[in-house]
Amino acid sequence: MPGIEGKVVVITGASSGIGEAAARLLSRRGARVVVGARRTDRLEKLASAIRAEGGTVEHRAVDVTKRQDVADFVDFARATFGRVDVIVNNAGVMPLSPLSSLKIEEWDRMIDVNIRGVLHGIAAGLPIMKAQGHGHFVNVSSIGGHMVVPTAAVYCATKFAVWAISDGLRQESTDLRVTVISPGVTESELAETITDDSARQAMKEFRKTAISADAVARAIAFAIEQPDDVDVSEIVVRPTASPH
Ligand code: NDP
Repeated sequence: MPGIEGKVVVITGASSGIGEAAARLLSRRGARVVVGARRTDRLEKLASAIRAEGGTVEHRAVDVTKRQDVADFVDFARATFGRVDVIVNNAGVMPLSPLSSLKIEEWDRMIDVNIRGVLHGIAAGLPIMKAQGHGHFVNVSSIGGHMVVPTAAVYCATKFAVWAISDGLRQESTDLRVTVISPGVTESELAETITDDSARQAMKEFRKTAISADAVARAIAFAIEQPDDVDVSEIVVRPTASPH
């Protein structure tokens, strides 16, 4: 089934930023979207806006750190629309800090959301997609999946992991498509998870060149709209004005 029209697309972390922009764009392009995150008030507003434009959308609370939550979320999409064509494993957090700050709970949270969350999405979707004989995982990594900078050691480690898991899945699954999307600095609420003062200040400067979340959503749409025999395995989308 080429294109976007009619596809059932499940998106985690759709209550803001890139996930929200992807939901809006894909629904405008005719996808039936199922959006999840923890802030259901935001999801409700998004769903109303999409429906007001004539789109098809369902929403559900999901915490990607909880395996059963993600399984229920993906099952909900299948029960509602009869199949699951695409899962966008997008939910992520980025509480940057130097390792010496020992913000160990924040390290754990990044590992739980950014790595385990993606694995939970894969675990929930893989049996469904295998049974269907088709499916597409779009996993959101980062330019931080390609390089490391100070204060971002753990965040980058989680994004290297997303890259590795995705490429392994791609190699093992010649019947499914797997795409890694690696954005550079993008307008969103991501930097709000930073509690370290110096990292927060540095990020304010870094984010001045940010591209819109819609730019990343367009990259996601490009990967999805390719014919079934074409797997866009990775797209890196950066601000023109940034060296990183
Ligand atoms: P936002 O902070 O705007 O969005 C993050 C989303 O993740 C929110 O919808 C949030 O929803 C959700 N989320 C966080 N924790 C959980 C959880 N435990 N369970 C379910 N959902 C959760 O940031 P972005 O849009 O920028 O982030 C999207 C992805 O893009 C992330 O993976 C991020 O690492 C990646 N990225 C972003 C870049 C940028 O510059 N913005 C650059 C490179 C990569 P809620 O709080 O309601 O649960």
